[in-house]
Amino acid sequence: MKIKRVKVEREGITYTGLMMPSKGARIILKLDNGYNIGLKKEAKTKVTTLKDERVVSHKKTPPPSPNPSLPTVSILSTGGTIASKVDYRTGAVTSQFDVDDILSAIPELTEIANFRGKVIYNILSENMRAEYWQKLARAAADEIKKGADGIMVTHGTDTMTYTAAALSLMLKTSVPIVFVGSQRSADRPSSDNVVNAVCAAKVATSDIAEVVVVMHAGMSDDICLMHRGVRVRKMHSSRRDAFRSINAKPIGRIDYKTRKIRTTEKYRKRGEQELVLNDRLETKCALVKFSPGADPGVIDYYTSKGYKGLVIEGTGLGHVSTEWIPHIKKAIDNGVHMVMTSQCLGGRVCDRVYDTGRDLLNAGVIEGEDMLPEVALVKLMWVLAQTQNPAEVRQLMQTNIAGELSRRSKHA
Ligand code: ASP
Repeated sequence: MKIKRVKVEREGITYTGLMMPSKGARIILKLDNGYNIGLKKEAKTKVTTLKDERVVSHKKTPPPSPNPSLPTVSILSTGGTIASKVDYRTGAVTSQFDVDDILSAIPELTEIANFRGKVIYNILSENMRAEYWQKLARAAADEIKKGADGIMVTHGTDTMTYTAAALSLMLKTSVPIVFVGSQRSADRPSSDNVVNAVCAAKVATSDIAEVVVVMHAGMSDDICLMHRGVRVRKMHSSRRDAFRSINAKPIGRIDYKTRKIRTTEKYRKRGEQELVLNDRLETKCALVKFSPGADPGVIDYYTSKGYKGLVIEGTGLGHVSTEWIPHIKKAIDNGVHMVMTSQCLGGRVCDRVYDTGRDLLNAGVIEGEDMLPEVALVKLMWVLAQTQNPAEVRQLMQTNIAGELSRRSKHA
């Protein structure tokens, strides 16, 4: 299929790019930097067709025949930007990637492993839910049982860390489970998809039998970092190096050009642990962020809706205003399990320093130690599916299960 390249002039500004299909009174242009713009078709808009057309093919290249000397990696795709491409027939960005699409877009992957794959979802990750984490965990366990040497999960970046935390808790894995995404789609020259996918594939064939997130380390296309799935957060809305380990160091780094992995932290090795799947979750849990003057009625609301657990993102060492404390106490007395975390993200909760903190402890709040708030939420869902006994919930919430918590913080 041939796509016209055009020059659009309007009000003294010239735009050059590919003319995307569009209905109605707008011209949609894919600019050379990859962004799309829409311009009204009006008398003052002058469109000139340029000579250089672009030919785009929708034909899939057939997958290469398996190389018996390479390991097998299973790609479980869930959607997101890494799985999206522009459909030049409709002009829309579609999320229609299966494993063959990924291999035709990034052929160098086939030098690293033989791939097989399953499309589990085709969604933007803001549409993920706890039930979807469970389906993904079961699919990963199935693939491992069927002999996959590693798993790569392609996922939208927005909520990737929630899903990575959920799989870290639900699966004790015997092989690497590597989450990867991209901040910028494949049709943009600054896309990070190739570097991230190649580095992720390398980790999926390594001896690191943990759930990890592999994404760009910096602004250049050279190094990716490997973060533990329960210690990582997306810290920027658009930069390629948005993912950062919090309260922990990354497990290691991958050099895209040499394909070498250098680990700097301890990790569980392939074969050290048999595969165990424990995919039960209590989904009636929520994360509540406190802000100055916020209405404590939000706690009563969740209690009245039958919620079993709440994680509070408090201020500083783990605080809420004095006004919130009786509401929290009432919820706990009614059987709601409450965990305190900090919106500082870095550091740990300590409610013994200030009065409001001591009052929270007296009310029965569980200190979330140095867990990220969203990780504490996923963990509370997982813990409450095992037990609802308050002492056991407290004990499990304060026990390190998958590297999400340390009893003592190391000062950098
Ligand atoms: N909103 C998208 C998602 O999380 C962004 C991305 O994929 O990076 O699915």
